[in-house]
Amino acid sequence: MSTRILDVENLRMYYKTKEGYVKAVDNVSFKIEKGDFLGIAGESASGKTSLAMTILKLLPPNAEIKSGRILIDGIDITNMKESELRDIRWTKISLVPQGSMNALNPVFTIGGQIVEGIVEHKIMSKKDAWKRAEELLELVGIDKARVKSYPHELSGGMKQRVAIAMALSNNPDVVLLDEPTTALDVIVQANIMNLLRDLQAKLKMTMILITHDLSIIADLCNKVIIYYAGKIAEMGDSLSVYTKPLHPYTQGLLASFPNIRAKRQKLSYIPGTPPNLVNPPKGCRFHPRCPFAFERCRIEEPQLREIEPGHFVACHLY
Ligand code: ATP
Ligand code: SF4
Ligand code: MG
Repeated sequence: MSTRILDVENLRMYYKTKEGYVKAVDNVSFKIEKGDFLGIAGESASGKTSLAMTILKLLPPNAEIKSGRILIDGIDITNMKESELRDIRWTKISLVPQGSMNALNPVFTIGGQIVEGIVEHKIMSKKDAWKRAEELLELVGIDKARVKSYPHELSGGMKQRVAIAMALSNNPDVVLLDEPTTALDVIVQANIMNLLRDLQAKLKMTMILITHDLSIIADLCNKVIIYYAGKIAEMGDSLSVYTKPLHPYTQGLLASFPNIRAKRQKLSYIPGTPPNLVNPPKGCRFHPRCPFAFERCRIEEPQLREIEPGHFVACHLY
């Protein structure tokens, strides 16, 4: 029996702008199974949020899906109507958006905001929804007495927990978290990571976590995607990728990691800057920054290929 929960095939999503198309998601394919904890890492502006928003089809008007398919639990949502998608987003896959802890409405209580989401989907009565809101707060480690608190009465870590609680309202199969620990201090980050680990174990959920921080992925995730300039550079089991990184970009990211668990490390130390996604470099998009680049890299784009079972890389060296 297949336990496939998400299947992304040849997905391309470009933003139309005056300067041309921003190729933020450019031929991306990956699959995850039930119970996986996938980490997606990449530099700022590489297109991680764009990938998440394309998978959920929560796109701005200038976004165009140019090709590909998205299957959630075997259901093809690529051409689904918005009304059908709303239910899928609630019951099958939910999102903790980037910056969501700062997007809570200051004039409503946190309980009121959780209840609003539940009632909107007509799952239960308002009275039951308040009970559910209390349950959800306890699930994410907040005293249920806080249900009538306003966002300004909570710490940053508590607000992030509320954002996670909202995404869990209807026990979705997959939760996608976009930078859930950015902007939190190291201790609070560690608490949120522990919460995610506990939730996954308790609720048997599938999780996708987007982050700049490779040490968070090393701590939490069994699978990893290294994303570069709108494409997957490398993908595989975390152990395999971290112990035997194949792509020069991954190698660069990991090189200054003598002890990945001891040190928080942002992805900002590879020389050079990520390319403009309107006119990315020809051939391999990483070639201007790659210490191993050779002639072929400037001409031909490397395809993602399976080098060892479950370990994929897009690089002409292999
Ligand atoms: P960060 O780590 O900073 O959150 P990211 O990897 O999530 O970055 P995205 O937010 O997906 O990156 O942005 C990818 C590229 O798409 C960037 O160049 C960004 O400027 C561009 N972009 C994002 N939204 C739009 C839009 N609505 N219209 C045009 N370009 C956009
Ligand atoms: Fe470097 Fe060439 Fe591999 Fe790209 S394809 S990562 S430029 S060696
Ligand atoms: Mg982002």
